[in-house]
Amino acid sequence: MIASWFGGLRGALLETAYPSTCLLCAAPGHAGLDLCAACRAELPRPEQACARCGLPLEYPAPFCGHCLRRLPPFDATWAALLYAPPVDGLIADFKFSARLPQGRLLGQLMAEALAPRINVPDCVIPVPLHRHRLRERGFNQALELARPLARALGCPLHHGAVMRVRATPPQQTLAATMRRDNLRGAFRVHPGFEAGHVALVDDVMTTGSTLREIAVALKVHGVKRVDVWVLARAA
Ligand SMILES: [Zn+2]
Ligand SMILES: [Zn+2]
Repeated sequence: MIASWFGGLRGALLETAYPSTCLLCAAPGHAGLDLCAACRAELPRPEQACARCGLPLEYPAPFCGHCLRRLPPFDATWAALLYAPPVDGLIADFKFSARLPQGRLLGQLMAEALAPRINVPDCVIPVPLHRHRLRERGFNQALELARPLARALGCPLHHGAVMRVRATPPQQTLAATMRRDNLRGAFRVHPGFEAGHVALVDDVMTTGSTLREIAVALKVHGVKRVDVWVLARAA
């Protein structure tokens, strides 16, 4: 497990022993991150986006066309970055090769982008992995991103609040229209869970089907407001 590798004494010791180095170009890191100032300035960020679903927009508008036609079950979406090079490569290194420096950097970038913009919720919930996938990968990337965010905001993290009760084929392998059917009934909210306002955390948001399905389950359970915080939003 790679739990609790963000921050803390171990991080401070590593920082002293190994000065930060840019994970993209190998130049010296900047401001304590494994990223140089030039690479950081060039990271793709959402300039203007739909307030409801985070979809990048080409012109300033409060909502995208999809949300105007049909509002999603979540109330707001904040994305730290756009899912485009080099962010996609950093995420793949973290998620599929368990590269810890990439994970730590992505968590730091997410926290610094979101902290000034969001309303602090009652609790933070990472999108759960089914236990079979968790066993294969060894960690849940959403939990690893949510943990330092919750700590930075001083709000509780409830990673048992939503359970993935049915294993489903990876969403990437399905067409958009099949994604929602694939997920129906895949999530269950813990019967004892209670909160008025929650933030759901995930690494990448593409169609948002997974987040939609969880938001519906939370609202049926009585949660009033569900915000979505993602590391990277796909266009
Ligand atoms: Zn660099
Ligand atoms: Zn939208």
